Amino acid sequence: MEEQGWPLAEPYKTKMVEWIELLPRPAREDAIRRAGYNPFKLLAQDVYIDLLTDSGTSAMSQEQWAALMRGDESYAGSTSFQDLQASVQDVLGFPLVLPTHQGRAAEHVLMQALVDAGDLVPNNLHFDTTKAHVLARGATPVDVVVAEGLEPGGDFPFKGNVDVDRLGDLLREQGERIPLVMVTVTSNQNGGQPVSLQNLREVRRLCERHRKPLFLDAARFAENAYLVQQREPGQSDRSASEIAREMMSLADGCTMSAKKDPMVNIGGFVALRSEELYRKVRDFGILYEGYATYGGLAGRDLAALAQGLRESVMPQHLAYRTAQVAQLHQALEASGVPVMSPVGGHGVYVDAGRMLPHIARDAFPAWALSVELYRERGIRAVEIGTVLAGRDPKTGEHDYPALELLRLAIPRRVYSQAQLAQVAEAMRRILARRDGVEGYRFTYEPPTLRHFAAEFEPI
Ligand SMILES: *Cc1c(COP(=O)(O)O)cnc(C)c1O
Repeated sequence: MEEQGWPLAEPYKTKMVEWIELLPRPAREDAIRRAGYNPFKLLAQDVYIDLLTDSGTSAMSQEQWAALMRGDESYAGSTSFQDLQASVQDVLGFPLVLPTHQGRAAEHVLMQALVDAGDLVPNNLHFDTTKAHVLARGATPVDVVVAEGLEPGGDFPFKGNVDVDRLGDLLREQGERIPLVMVTVTSNQNGGQPVSLQNLREVRRLCERHRKPLFLDAARFAENAYLVQQREPGQSDRSASEIAREMMSLADGCTMSAKKDPMVNIGGFVALRSEELYRKVRDFGILYEGYATYGGLAGRDLAALAQGLRESVMPQHLAYRTAQVAQLHQALEASGVPVMSPVGGHGVYVDAGRMLPHIARDAFPAWALSVELYRERGIRAVEIGTVLAGRDPKTGEHDYPALELLRLAIPRRVYSQAQLAQVAEAMRRILARRDGVEGYRFTYEPPTLRHFAAEFEPI
């Protein structure tokens, strides 16, 4: 049992240091203007604290670096692959694994094997690459998250849950068009929100009744397991790794972006139970990714991934990681910054629409906040609002999403509590002078994926 009352501290010490620099304010103003007021176009060295994403940006442990040195580069049957297979069996309980270069490649080979034109694929909330791969097969992604999952506030603890009534109706009415059911743990698209074990069991029962395979989009499975331990009645005495194995035991397989919870800079896989399905997926893996025991990765990448997957369920890591995210959420809430609640596993989502109500939707309030955060303290975050949503292809109008959000994604084992306190203070200062924050308009708007390359000017 942990001793109470001590401030939160990192459960590791630092052995290698990467210097970061806060540019003086005039240099920041200059950098963001040169970037066309688009944080994606900033140079990394001009960023002080980078909260753009938690994907591929985590710090590896000394054991992972040691594993890199021991990577076996044999084309087929490498010891590093065997190590990955053993790790997947231990941590997730799946006997079969097909490595891929990252998560979307895992989705690609799985969808090639299972999904055909005209199909429907239900998912609590599709992550954008998953949605794109369903669409690329000529199929239709259907989101079946519970209604609470789409509300910015409240205290519902499992906003990633599937609406089982809606899923049941869909399976009954359109069953013949549904090749598989997917559940994203945690649900990235609405803030890293967890799915309860109870909900996964109900989804499993529905899938069994309708004889459909269930796959987890498992990029943040360990954070999901930890939040189940913390929030779900009856789960507090179990370890996160035990809960994670039960989550996986309910599924027929998973796709993994190992750049998230397994803490590697590149990598992914499909894990499976059925030999028959493995063979189908493997043939597409060999076609698109590489031979079945390396899947587009170097042997050393497989070795670091095997170790990172084991570390992803370490109790002290998960307790610190989720508490660090929750503390930033608390600090922002305490200073009156409107945030999405309850907090999820990997970041804090600021409700920029409520924070900057004087900026019209077509002047991009969440985008304006992202620019302001860089100007204030050299911090980079990502807009999840109108700029990201793009235009309606039929009308050509902005496709306004329900909320204007700014996501502060926290890389694993990278930033200290003192550095995150800088983020909270920067947001507090912007809130205090929010009436002076101005909106933006395009000076260059690319036809697709406009957020990456667009350029702006202040209005
Ligand atoms: C990141 C992510 C993916 C895609 O993985 P990549 O490694 O970026 O290709 C898929 N699903 C979820 C939930 C993710 O967060």
